[in-house]
Amino acid sequence: MKPDTPSLPFSDLAHAATGDVLLPGEADYDAARVVWNGMISRKPAVILRCTSRGDIVAGVRFAARHGLAVSIKGGGHNVAGHAVGEGSLMLDLSQMRGVTVDPAARTAWVDGGATWAEVDAATQAHGLATPGGLISETGVGGLTLSGGVGWLRSKHGLTIDNLIAAEVVTADGSVMLASATEHPDLLWALKGGGGNFGVVVRFCFALHPFGPEVMFALPIYLAADGPGPIRFWRDFLADKSDTVASLCEFSTLPESPDVPAEHWGKRCFTLAAIYAGDATEGERVLAPLRELGKLAADFSGRMPYVEAQKLFDPLFPTGAYRCYWKSHLLTTLADEMIDEGLANATASPSDRSISSFWNFGGATARVPAAATAFGDRSFGWMYSLDSVWEKPEDDEKVMGWTRKAWTRFRRHSHEGRLYLNFAGQDADSADLTKDAFGQTYQRLAAIKRRYDPGNMFRFNQNIQPAQ
Ligand SMILES: Cc1cc2nc3c(=O)[nH]c(=O)nc-3n(C[C@H](O)[C@H](O)[C@H](O)COP(=O)(O)OP(=O)(O)OC[C@H]3O[C@@H](n4cnc5c(N)ncnc54)[C@H](O)[C@@H]3O)c2cc1C
Repeated sequence: MKPDTPSLPFSDLAHAATGDVLLPGEADYDAARVVWNGMISRKPAVILRCTSRGDIVAGVRFAARHGLAVSIKGGGHNVAGHAVGEGSLMLDLSQMRGVTVDPAARTAWVDGGATWAEVDAATQAHGLATPGGLISETGVGGLTLSGGVGWLRSKHGLTIDNLIAAEVVTADGSVMLASATEHPDLLWALKGGGGNFGVVVRFCFALHPFGPEVMFALPIYLAADGPGPIRFWRDFLADKSDTVASLCEFSTLPESPDVPAEHWGKRCFTLAAIYAGDATEGERVLAPLRELGKLAADFSGRMPYVEAQKLFDPLFPTGAYRCYWKSHLLTTLADEMIDEGLANATASPSDRSISSFWNFGGATARVPAAATAFGDRSFGWMYSLDSVWEKPEDDEKVMGWTRKAWTRFRRHSHEGRLYLNFAGQDADSADLTKDAFGQTYQRLAAIKRRYDPGNMFRFNQNIQPAQ
């Protein structure tokens, strides 16, 4: 049994749940509240390490009884740190990571605390896949609920476009199936509306034959050599949005034995691309991206899809750095925007920062605006500024620079929209939620009122319940 605090009977929660109940000062409490962004350190009133749907129900009912807000930790990758709410009851789902594949039906049920590493391993065992993200350690929960942008988007759309059903614990502790026939409004809202509507115990995804081998192009050019390769890349992708998912990623070449020493510390860009089809054919199709001038390095090659999904993981260690990420969705990618992206990358105050142009179109663009809470799909590109640095004393310098670069770029944005998984932090993120949803916001607010009228789930891109 756990000790009670003067105000709340946490021992009742410990009796009702099988998972650990962690209070401030207890062993494991501090480890459980760590998230990916090293600059986030918040203290929940209590943490429940859920091991089952029953634990989630017990946690939500306890919170409802005692007026606590609930924060939900899936993979802990949310850059704004929404997983950990100050003074909240935090449901830590990291013990709930099971994946059950039905290869005949081509579906998978995925527990709410799983990461993409578990999903990719389980589905690729059957030669199947569903669109996830670029880093295998990212949680399925947060990534899915705000859209989900990964390497399969050209052929199979966003992660939400493959979400068939979800089992959800809502604010009154009820367990509901959200599907095309049961609570379809809830399923619609989960497809882009974030963690506003309840705790997802399990997601059900459609799977597609994919891999096991893919062609991954990763040629790297020096920023100092100019925007020529990026302009070619943009035009090259124009008729390939159904088969090639790609990003032009600006970064700084590391001091690595895999990089010629003469290039260490230089700003560069990688034209990263995965071909959604036969790897040999992909090697041929993507070859031109590797022939656009003098290469600083080239890590292109055929590899297992599960390996491609983990390739960037070492760049993003949990808790190691301070991070502030923002984005714009873009209609087109004009020369002027490429030049500005390149100039931003060159001027960025941190060598650890990354920024990228991402292509869209293909299967992502074919989903009607009203079909998901994510809304309109007529944007063609995304610009993301992923600022990463080491020292607290550089917070203002790096964040201030990022805000300025993002604000300047806003004139190019697609109807003021951004991607809510890369939305910034605190007030400058919250203020943008309505812009991001556009016309969808009012419909989401009405659904929020139905399933969470008291706004128990408010540590997220928050949607206020309609009055
Ligand atoms: C290194 C890195 C790489 C990334 N790459 C990509 C990428 O390629 N594509 C992309 O689209 N995004 C990417 N992201 C962004 C990522 O999708 C978001 O940060 C997302 O919030 C992470 O999900 P999580 O479960 O790990 O987050 P957490 O921090 O655990 O959760 C964030 C929020 O999601 C909600 N949530 C999580 N699980 C549940 C659940 N089971 N039920 C209800 N609500 C839940 C809650 O509101 C919670 O506050 C990346 C982020 C990082 C840090």
